[in-house]
Amino acid sequence: MDFNLNNQQKTLIELVQELGKNKFASRAFVYDEEASFPWENYEDLRNHGLLALCVPKEYGGMGVDFPSYCLISAEIARYCGATALTYNMHISSTLWLNVLNDLPLRESEIAECEIYKKIHFQRIVEKQALYSQPISEEGAGVSLGKAYQTTAKKVEGGWLINGKKTFASLSEAADYYGIVCTEEKENISVENCLYIAIPAKTQGVQVVGQWNPLGMRATISRTLIFDNVFVPNNAQLLPSNIYLKLTELYPHMFFTLAPTYMGIAQAAYDFTIKYLRGEVVGMPPIKQRQNKIKQFNVAQMFIILEQTKAIFYRVINEAKINPSKAERLRAYAANYTVMENSNQLCSLAIRVCGGHSLLKSFPLERLYRDSRCGALMRPWGSDRCLEKLGMETLYESQETDDQ
Ligand SMILES: Cc1cc2nc3c(=O)[nH]c(=O)nc-3n(C[C@H](O)[C@H](O)[C@H](O)COP(=O)(O)OP(=O)(O)OC[C@H]3O[C@@H](n4cnc5c(N)ncnc54)[C@H](O)[C@@H]3O)c2cc1C
Repeated sequence: MDFNLNNQQKTLIELVQELGKNKFASRAFVYDEEASFPWENYEDLRNHGLLALCVPKEYGGMGVDFPSYCLISAEIARYCGATALTYNMHISSTLWLNVLNDLPLRESEIAECEIYKKIHFQRIVEKQALYSQPISEEGAGVSLGKAYQTTAKKVEGGWLINGKKTFASLSEAADYYGIVCTEEKENISVENCLYIAIPAKTQGVQVVGQWNPLGMRATISRTLIFDNVFVPNNAQLLPSNIYLKLTELYPHMFFTLAPTYMGIAQAAYDFTIKYLRGEVVGMPPIKQRQNKIKQFNVAQMFIILEQTKAIFYRVINEAKINPSKAERLRAYAANYTVMENSNQLCSLAIRVCGGHSLLKSFPLERLYRDSRCGALMRPWGSDRCLEKLGMETLYESQETDDQ
């Protein structure tokens, strides 16, 4: 995507580009049509060691950092959005643990983090385990300030989990479901969060409901039920009560969904250029680029794409613990921009290219449907970003109108 790349970024982006062009792009039609999981793509990712992309080198992984991951994810999304989005759930499970050393934690918590990192990273490196992040619940969550209804009760040797997670991407595909739930205590609070990896095959775990949505069909985001599911203590990914702190101090952790939609935006633009130059395989090689209206619309697409890439690139390079207020607000603005512009670019691409581009034999109509999902992704849905920006631009932390 024409950024100023270092050598590691170049090599890895070339690798996923090769996989994307030669394998993911053609398979995406079938996965989308059938709403089936992209198993073959994951086989390719596994074979190239890409499940351990963001596992630090000292644990046997590739040690890829936040900005590099975002660029790689966007590249994958140019060819298969659902693969990029599900890959994000897996990679975030490792990325989120990488910043723990920079958090203001007690010594005992740091030691605990080390135990969890060793277990989970080892599984990914040696057994190539696949993780998901079913966090969403109806009407609950840290972004809403309401404790998760899914609970973990302390029992001898571990935890007993009960509850329900909706929109669980990689359901029946992941080896581990990394849920965020509430520790069952006398006074339940949103602060008492536990982040726990539940082995998918554990007794009491059930996948229910259909998955036949408008877009991102290959993510297989069905509903998970946990009925008295026992997991040992070391199933935790984070020590108790750290998750909320992490979300507050490391807001960029939620920006990892945006690269998928950045890649889709690029793909819509790429398709439009090829289409108007008469270079799309399966179309008569008739050039449509002489038309002035089409030229004007493509110019508009180019401007929107470049604006989106500019803020995207800036924000991925600003990800850190305790960012400044300006960096945090820019991250919300960038998330909003990418999610909204991705859909706008797909829509414009259809308008410019015309009716033939709507045919299911071309990727544009899938890009359009997939791009519509971006603005809904919690915790930074588009309206939530506006809500946060509206408040945080006008009020300082803890400030009220009574002061
Ligand atoms: C393809 C796909 C894959 C997904 N995969 C996962 C996954 O792997 N893990 C996971 O945890 N979740 C996943 N999700 C769930 C996603 O993150 C959201 O939680 C889910 O779409 C929210 O449900 P909702 O849109 O019905 O509800 P709501 O949150 O009610 O949002 C609907 C609308 O209500 C308004 N709204 C609601 N609350 C607020 C607020 N606080 N501030 C401002 N406006 C608000 C907004 O206009 C918003 O667009 C996935 C969703 C999709 C579509």
